[in-house]
Amino acid sequence: MGFGGGKERSRRRGRSHSLPFVAVLLASGLFMSIETAPSRIRFVLVGTQHPGNMGAAARAMKTMGLGRLVLVAPEKPLNEEAFRRSAGAEDVLGDAPVVATLADAVADCRLVLGCTARARRVQLEELLPGVAAQRALAKAAEPAEVAFVFGRERTGLTNEELQLCHLAVHIPSNPDFSSLNLAAAVQVLAYELRMASLGGVSAVAPAEPGFREEPASHAQVEGLFGQLGDTLDDIDFHKGRAPESAMRKLRRLFLRTELSEQEVRLLRGILSDAQRMARLAAGKPQ
Ligand code: SAH
Repeated sequence: MGFGGGKERSRRRGRSHSLPFVAVLLASGLFMSIETAPSRIRFVLVGTQHPGNMGAAARAMKTMGLGRLVLVAPEKPLNEEAFRRSAGAEDVLGDAPVVATLADAVADCRLVLGCTARARRVQLEELLPGVAAQRALAKAAEPAEVAFVFGRERTGLTNEELQLCHLAVHIPSNPDFSSLNLAAAVQVLAYELRMASLGGVSAVAPAEPGFREEPASHAQVEGLFGQLGDTLDDIDFHKGRAPESAMRKLRRLFLRTELSEQEVRLLRGILSDAQRMARLAAGKPQ
């Protein structure tokens, strides 16, 4: 599901763009990709405790023209209350895949934004919702899959889950009372996405020029991190220190750079050689 109906779109276009401008955009393919960008954005709810909140989140999304909801290991299955609270967004709720982990939910994504109620809790760049929405639309228009991730009602997202995200999003709420209801937070982000989308092409930066190689998926980059962690052990990089701090910094570095598939292959090749040399040095068989 994208934003708005055909009629709404054509009225909007007619009002805000002159005809030659639209023709140029259509010819370049950019306009179409911006229009369909929201269909490449999913909202992921992690470990939701109250089924009613999943229904309310589906409703919040549908009011803003978004239709892709993914549920990660909800505490309780969808029930009557969930569908009642969806208030007509039963399609969004009923179509939502249920997966076991956040990594599964975002495996094919190239941008993952973690929504957090606590400001500056994580060592991730933190964006305002409006800025996050624009970045998400620009990325989706490339085209690429994008996810907004929301945590549990009581405890939010774990540090491990936040580490799977490229960026954090914080709704600048009252610092002394910062936590919105889950579906209310979903509503704010869905609204910002709609506003950014209605703002049209001018609000959204075009795809990065000159990037020709196929970008690596989230799962491929996670595979690299797994091997990097093993290699650091194999070469005794940590020397008794806890490995988490170095891995956190390395994750941040690599997630910032948008690796291509080829670059992941190259780095994993280097790591494989380092692991082989470590085995040789230890006198172990190849
Ligand atoms: N007590 C939890 C809050 C959970 S609210 C905590 O302190 O982390 C449930 C979810 O709604 C959060 O995980 C987050 O994804 C979203 N949310 C709530 N308030 C938010 C805010 N101010 N900014 C961004 N996301 C928010």
